[in-house]
Amino acid sequence: MIRTIAKISLVLLVIVALPLSFYLVREFSTLSKNEQMVQRVFSTQLQSILYSVNQYSENVVHQWSQSLDQPVEPTGTVMKGLVNNLFQDNHSVLTIRFLNLKSHGVEAEFFNSGSKVLIDYWPSGSEIAKLQEYLKSNYQRIETKMMTDSTLMLYFLTKSSNGEQACQIVINPRTFVLQNMSPQIQQIAQNLFFISIADSTSGKVIYSTEDNTSRGGNILKASMWYIPGYQVGIRLKAKTLEELASERTQRDNYMLIGLTIVVLLGLYFVIWNIRKEMKLAELKSEFVSNVSHEIRTPLALISMYAETLLLKRVKTEAKQEEYLNTIHQESARLTDIVNRILNFSRLEKNRLKYQFSKVNLHELVPEIMASLKPHLQASQVDCHFSSGVDEAWVFADSDVVKTMLVNLVDNAIKYSADRDRKIEIRLVKKPKSVWVEVEDNGIGIAPRNQKHVFDQFYRVTEGDLAHHAKGSGLGLNLVKRMMKAHGGSVALRSKLGEGSTFILKFPVKKQNHV
Ligand code: ADP
Repeated sequence: MIRTIAKISLVLLVIVALPLSFYLVREFSTLSKNEQMVQRVFSTQLQSILYSVNQYSENVVHQWSQSLDQPVEPTGTVMKGLVNNLFQDNHSVLTIRFLNLKSHGVEAEFFNSGSKVLIDYWPSGSEIAKLQEYLKSNYQRIETKMMTDSTLMLYFLTKSSNGEQACQIVINPRTFVLQNMSPQIQQIAQNLFFISIADSTSGKVIYSTEDNTSRGGNILKASMWYIPGYQVGIRLKAKTLEELASERTQRDNYMLIGLTIVVLLGLYFVIWNIRKEMKLAELKSEFVSNVSHEIRTPLALISMYAETLLLKRVKTEAKQEEYLNTIHQESARLTDIVNRILNFSRLEKNRLKYQFSKVNLHELVPEIMASLKPHLQASQVDCHFSSGVDEAWVFADSDVVKTMLVNLVDNAIKYSADRDRKIEIRLVKKPKSVWVEVEDNGIGIAPRNQKHVFDQFYRVTEGDLAHHAKGSGLGLNLVKRMMKAHGGSVALRSKLGEGSTFILKFPVKKQNHV
């Protein structure tokens, strides 16, 4: 049987567990693949937000260049007005200077209120040539140059002069970030992102959308186009992508582990059931051989003695009576066996009808014992009844009570030891029940077998006597089912080598109209 179960388990394992493990491995790997993909998409998204921050700074600078690139005299009032407007609206702009590249002279120079930041930079010939090339292809390129830690110069060639005039704008990058950029950055960040601008060399944060910058998490960074050395960084405000991804992966993993456990439990349950069914099948086949064996002996005796009598080979009357008695006893034994099987089959099909009535066990039990007297005497068993009460009324089917008691007494005789055999039958009254105890001093039952003796077809196979005593493994199962129908139960106390006590527990309060 063990080999068959091992085979079935292996097949189930191959059918269920292998595809499942493939699925799980695949699931795990696709999870990380999905994650990588989300990560890629997300960082592209963040990069495009960073790009839009830079784009905004470009818009600001281009607005300046457009407003200053006019076909007017740099020293004229129109230009003055334009420059003043620009100064007023942008505190970050400190100095504006126009250079005439042809005459190599400074055309005009303007300072924002109070500041007098002078420019002493003249673009080289190659730089100018490069910018002129760009301008020819209709692109006004704006160059940057860090002057000091706190001043940055932007310069470009004006279109209005056909590239013969350069405009230089000196700004304070810090003020540029704080005043020109921050409102837009705040808008981009909303409540979703944390955006900061920092000086990458000193690591100092110039501006950030949140006061508390200590919270961890990876920040995606990009250099600022117009402020060399400055970096703009972004990360998700609530949770970083890694946190979200690992949270989700963890949840998915738990689900997969749960699924695995359910499948394994299911597998275990299937194998357990198959094992049980196979055990039952094995017990049934044992039952057939046991019963055939049990029937064969009385049949052989009956036919042998009947034949002897028929052939008139028996000389004395006494011998004749002895033979007839044997035939009578053996046919009673056959009836017993057949009745037990019939009862079992009726119980199996729920066809056993009970005739419940009020029964006084104090009278019924001695009656049954009296009917068993010849059998007990023949087996040389000393049977004794004791009762702690005068009457014990229960609702029961008296025939069924007899069947149960006969079964228990039969077993007590069958599994008794060789030495002085004793059966003690007691009536005990409990608060809510009446107990009929059948105690023997027989071979007893080992603890590991005790929980099985009430199973159908179960027989203890260890020990010499247990092995040789005939039986079907149905008796105790019948008793258990019958007691259940009475609303009661059967219990067992036993010690190997010392004896067993079977207890029929009848309820007294409940009326058993089953
Ligand atoms: P069986 O026809 O084999 O006696 P039962 O259902 O009546 O079937 O009993 C099941 C098993 O329980 C028996 O095979 C025997 O091993 C054990 N058993 C039952 N009664 C006793 C007892 N009084 N003493 C020892 N073992 C017992």
